[in-house]
Amino acid sequence: MFAKTSAKEILKKQFGYDEFRPMQAEIINAITEDKKDCLVLMPTGGGKSITYQIPALINNGVTIVVSPLIALMKDQVEALLANGISAAFLNSSQSTSEQTNIEDLSLQGTIKLLYVSPEKLVSHSFSPFLKKLNISLFAVDEAHCISQWGHDFRPEYTKLKFLKESYPDIPVLALTATADKITARDIVTQLNLKSPQKYIASFDRPNISLNVVAGRNKYDKIKAFIKKRPNQSGIIYCLSRKSTEQISAKLKADGINAAHYHAGVDREERSKVQENFIKDDVPIICATVAFGMGIDKSNVRWVIHYNMPKHLENYYQEIGRCGRDGTKADTMMFYSLQDVIVYRGFINDDHKNKEVEIAKLNRIQEYAESLTCRRKILLSYFGEHLAEDCGNCDVCKNPPEHFDGTIIAQKALSALHRMNESVGVNMLINVLRGAGRQDIFDLAYHEIKTYGVGKDISFANWQQYVLQLLNQGFIEIAYDQNHVLKLTRASKAVLYNQKKVKLVKVSEIEKKKQKSKEPKRIKIINKTEQFSNDLFERLRTLRKEIANKENIPPYVVFSNAVLEDLCSEKPITVDNLTDISGIGEFKAAKYGQSFVNEIDKFIKESDEEKIKGSTYIITYDMFINGMDVEDIAKERNLQATTIFSHLANSYSNGKNIDIDRLITSDELVQIENAIKVKGKEEGLKTLYTFLDEKIDYGKIRLGIAYYDKKRI
Ligand code: ADP
Ligand code: ZN
Repeated sequence: MFAKTSAKEILKKQFGYDEFRPMQAEIINAITEDKKDCLVLMPTGGGKSITYQIPALINNGVTIVVSPLIALMKDQVEALLANGISAAFLNSSQSTSEQTNIEDLSLQGTIKLLYVSPEKLVSHSFSPFLKKLNISLFAVDEAHCISQWGHDFRPEYTKLKFLKESYPDIPVLALTATADKITARDIVTQLNLKSPQKYIASFDRPNISLNVVAGRNKYDKIKAFIKKRPNQSGIIYCLSRKSTEQISAKLKADGINAAHYHAGVDREERSKVQENFIKDDVPIICATVAFGMGIDKSNVRWVIHYNMPKHLENYYQEIGRCGRDGTKADTMMFYSLQDVIVYRGFINDDHKNKEVEIAKLNRIQEYAESLTCRRKILLSYFGEHLAEDCGNCDVCKNPPEHFDGTIIAQKALSALHRMNESVGVNMLINVLRGAGRQDIFDLAYHEIKTYGVGKDISFANWQQYVLQLLNQGFIEIAYDQNHVLKLTRASKAVLYNQKKVKLVKVSEIEKKKQKSKEPKRIKIINKTEQFSNDLFERLRTLRKEIANKENIPPYVVFSNAVLEDLCSEKPITVDNLTDISGIGEFKAAKYGQSFVNEIDKFIKESDEEKIKGSTYIITYDMFINGMDVEDIAKERNLQATTIFSHLANSYSNGKNIDIDRLITSDELVQIENAIKVKGKEEGLKTLYTFLDEKIDYGKIRLGIAYYDKKRI
């Protein structure tokens, strides 16, 4: 019990959090109290690190953390130091004297957490030092690297068996974000864990929105997506190296700061790109899947898949790289049948594991084409059942409406039948739309009865309907016969037995996607959009300045979640800062004053704005109470022109103002004309002169407001 309370105190004091997340307290207790080996399966961002960092602070001695990547170690150590916790790493990137210094500090017990690479840990030269250390815990991060079944097998990890052999009494904590059961079992065997305590957390990441979008006009959709999210960090995953380069070049040409990354880029450049991304200097990276592993950046806000990934495992891991700070994050995956066809081609060429690969491809295709909650499908793939629809996927937000699509289906199926089931998707659609193409004439498809019966539906919409027919089993693709379309038993029932077919209206899907509702299942922390973005931007800039000065990533200073809370709570004394989740005593003392000052300044400035705003309101109130401009001017002891501009301001801000009381329609026309000829940029005086000085400045201001509003 004692350990638990002090664990909670440490959580608050050092990390600034009030409550443990599910399982954290139990894991910490199992290690510190019961000295048990543990296996922890928790998704990225679930909060695994704290489960060994807190025991490291509670126990005497040093905790050894095994971590596969230098970048990861560096990141973790930086984050710990920023919280005032003494930690260090040892790896091949350091000089001998640096390493000796860290070894000495560890032996003295000054360093509480020591991160090492598996190579280093298992090396003979390291062994004497290790023997001298007072070790309280071994934490093996990214433990799936030990398994050949996992996706990142690293041979050095298999040698970690020696830990339990040489140090049988020291608990080993194995951690991974890989959900699959075979890998989990393998970790236990390979590390030789002694009847370990297993903790399997939910893999749901409710803050990440799931969206699948038709793979057309991809670049325009990407651009629109990014424009809606200024200053946000994101990753665009592409299948080919070339696409990464092309998209980043296009973005740059459009004035969007981006870079590309793939295995063909030279080493130095790659680490530069990664560094720039981590430090928020380049917010957007177009990358192949080589990018992301080992990046702990918690403020990645979105992930786009330019192509559908091969498996749901890869997809889930890749989208998991956004929203690690638990605040709202968005994903968008492009899907087209073409992607499936390309993968099927790969699989047919390479026969190893063919069945498994095809089954996995089918599952991601089902996901992409789903007309029910996507998160349910995704989680069920990982063996989890979600009781309610998630409310944060495109299907939940815009539930598809079905219509009787029997006639559409009949047209397509009948055309297919008349072409002897020997054509692919494009030919089928071209014939349905009555295209005047040479290949159609050559094959005499323009003579069949169904030629041109689907003219009224656009090519793109036909693609969607064909996809739905495929998805519902009315058509099959013969992958082994040049991908031609085949009829099925079900389709014959449509053609000959009047079987009804339900389809989802495509134009509706596209249209409805524009609006989005708040998810109902969970309330996602999304304060950023509620408060004035101004303060957030100012705090973000301040964070960046501090990060640059200290040469650490901005999210290590404060996470986005902390910035959002600062914006909504607006604390103006350092004492109040530790009330904010994620600010411990150390950070409050170190960074608190600067942030508090910025908030204070912001509040004062907006108060001034408000005072200015209130003079408009007084004028407006008098006006709607029936007073005219002259009376208000006299009453308030102001110029009539000033009153006009107050009213113009209220009008622009959406206040209901009867404009006819202020200006004649003839005057409005003249002003509009003047704006068209002269533009507004030159200022009021130009317009005033252009109008022969006959219309008052105040009225011109009002005219501009009117004209602006008309254009919106
Ligand atoms: P993982 O290693 O599982 O990917 P991290 O340990 O990096 O996840 O934690 C993800 C984020 O969640 C970090 O920003 C961390 O500070 C935060 N976090 C961890 N535990 C808690 C908690 N009990 N309350 C609030 N935030 C937490
Ligand atoms: Zn859903």
